[in-house]
Amino acid sequence: MIRFDRVVKKFGDHVVLRELDFTVKPGEFVTLIGPSGSGKTTILRLLMTLERVNEGTIEVCGEYLSHMERGGKLVPADEKHLRRMRKRIGMVFQQFNLFPNMSVLQNITEAPIRALGMSKAEAGERARDLLDKVGLGDKVDAHPMQLSGGQQQRVAIARALAMEPDVMLLDEVTSALDPELVAGVLKVLRDIAEKTDITCLCVTHEMQFAKDVSDRVMMFDQGQVIEDAPPEKLFTSPEHERTREFLHAVI
Ligand code: ADP
Repeated sequence: MIRFDRVVKKFGDHVVLRELDFTVKPGEFVTLIGPSGSGKTTILRLLMTLERVNEGTIEVCGEYLSHMERGGKLVPADEKHLRRMRKRIGMVFQQFNLFPNMSVLQNITEAPIRALGMSKAEAGERARDLLDKVGLGDKVDAHPMQLSGGQQQRVAIARALAMEPDVMLLDEVTSALDPELVAGVLKVLRDIAEKTDITCLCVTHEMQFAKDVSDRVMMFDQGQVIEDAPPEKLFTSPEHERTREFLHAVI
């Protein structure tokens, strides 16, 4: 579902990703862990086409992000191709980024109506269903300001799900929340991991959560995956000294 092949990403002279290779299979929930500044968010931003690679290729659902096929040849992607690829990918950020002037319902129906051409009635029905799933069925008409941070984040998750993405990118989605609000958001993500076949790539500092829901954990350091293993292996008997140090420092 996701393939990075020898991806190099630099900001000026600073090499953030060094010939990075990894794949994520359909339906997998993969968590990226590693020290701050190691390039985890950059990976998500490349997938969202908010950044471009310097070298190497990224594929999503078997198609290149940066190139498209035309007349049997690969040519650089145009804006239409990028838009089509972006629709397959949902992203939830640390800061929820809801539209403050819209109701909860409008926040969720806006993109399906505008980008997928869904009718207002259908988008509304699906939004209500998603709000029930994230435990906010009674907040349809509320405005973001009237909700707690945890509730806003659950709306942001419902909004991403409303686009029926193949891939969900989750960037530190609980970092901005008060501790007592974290559990509700993690429960929603656990449901997604267990009950849907959406492929998830998640950056988190919540090691217990990573342990509970991930099919695979990738330990990331200095622009490379230094260890890639199921959570029961990575958290209990990591092979790499750097992973041991990191886990020791954060758990
Ligand atoms: P992580 O998510 O692991 O904390 P990031 O991907 O955010 O790491 O950042 C990796 C490195 O890239 C950091 O050194 C950061 O300062 C740098 N970086 C990220 N985005 C930019 C940018 N737009 N311009 C310059 N440097 C950047």
